Amino acid sequence: MYDVIIIGGGASGLSAGIIAKERGKSVLILESANRVGKKLLATGNGKCNLANMNICNQNYNNPYVAHFIDKTQKFYDFWQKLGLKIKQVEDRIYPYSDSATTVLNLLRGNFLPSEIKTGFNVESIQKKDGIFLINDTILAKNVILATGSNATLGQNSHHLAQNFGHKVTELRPSIAPLLTDTTFIKNLANLRAKVKVSLVCGDKIVAKQMGEILFKSNGISGICIFMLSSYIARNQGEYKVLVDFAPDLSLSQVQEFLQKHSIFGLFQKPICQSIIKQAENTGHDLATTVKNFVIENAMLGPVKFAQVVHGGLDTNEFDTTLQSKLVSNFYACGEVLNVDGDCGGYNLFWAFISGITAGENVC
Ligand SMILES: Cc1cc2nc3c(=O)[nH]c(=O)nc-3n(C[C@H](O)[C@H](O)[C@H](O)COP(=O)(O)OP(=O)(O)OC[C@H]3O[C@@H](n4cnc5c(N)ncnc54)[C@H](O)[C@@H]3O)c2cc1C
Repeated sequence: MYDVIIIGGGASGLSAGIIAKERGKSVLILESANRVGKKLLATGNGKCNLANMNICNQNYNNPYVAHFIDKTQKFYDFWQKLGLKIKQVEDRIYPYSDSATTVLNLLRGNFLPSEIKTGFNVESIQKKDGIFLINDTILAKNVILATGSNATLGQNSHHLAQNFGHKVTELRPSIAPLLTDTTFIKNLANLRAKVKVSLVCGDKIVAKQMGEILFKSNGISGICIFMLSSYIARNQGEYKVLVDFAPDLSLSQVQEFLQKHSIFGLFQKPICQSIIKQAENTGHDLATTVKNFVIENAMLGPVKFAQVVHGGLDTNEFDTTLQSKLVSNFYACGEVLNVDGDCGGYNLFWAFISGITAGENVC
């Protein structure tokens, strides 16, 4: 019998295992994929944006995170002990190597081969006489559920906790491209532009971002759009996106330019054509359309293109050590819980700090 079975060998499960082992616990990680840390390797375009200098409640959907934010030092101590050199790029924290593989190798290096079982899909957890039984074969005193979400890679395994009576809040993709039925963007597919984007609900601007937008035939993407998508995931409603194609010019500067010159001297040809078409359709002048190009019906795209899932196991049913309030010695950490952060290292920070906390508390 193991002291701790960890279900899921991602960021949160591996960090929970390292801390539990440090405390002298016997640990077994069960991972359904053919290797641990697959999603970790995909993070930050392979560079792994580990955390952010400005971690605060406002970057998350759930005030429950407040219990963990004052543990930021523990996060840095964890990496220092593992020997990872980190660096700061603007507000974001990365491994010095710019490589998610470095991060995964250090995590994995803390386990004996016998402590990780890959290709093992956990289908059932039962508890009898204070002992957990996994897939009718493996016994454990504690279970940590670290199964993440099905965003891009992976699978949802919330049912393992639901069988113990846990509730799951509504699941929606977040940090995702947005889809639209706006036909004006069709010929912009694959173009990139530096823009300001505003998210509008009703007649109110609810979020603004600057950055590079990437157009697709049926939608928009890019970090600035990912930021807006988190707002939509957390606040259901009907949205449109206003794109300002000339964020560093005022409306009167654009007007002045267009009085003397053609729009084709301002932007790439397909952008000009889309702006002209939209201006003709709405009856607005060209300069106004340059500053307020409308993308109607902006909706969250499919979860297979999302970086995280908003929603998960209801944190009201877990205490601040991440132990279930319904089933003693049953813990959860990482994205399987109803916690999602903004784009910028907030989700990996949550995965690691919640994994560390669960590992510190299993008895
Ligand atoms: C493309 C991409 C880029 C990202 N980039 C960043 C970034 O740069 N910075 C950032 O902060 N966040 C980023 N994220 C989000 C971040 O990767 C996740 O929030 C984080 O990895 C979640 O960690 P986790 O341990 O909770 O889950 P995961 O890393 O998903 O690990 C869960 C593991 O559990 C396994 N599992 C599931 N069910 C079972 C089962 N029944 N039995 C056994 N095993 C099971 C899965 O196979 C998986 O390996 C990115 C996500 C994606 C998809």
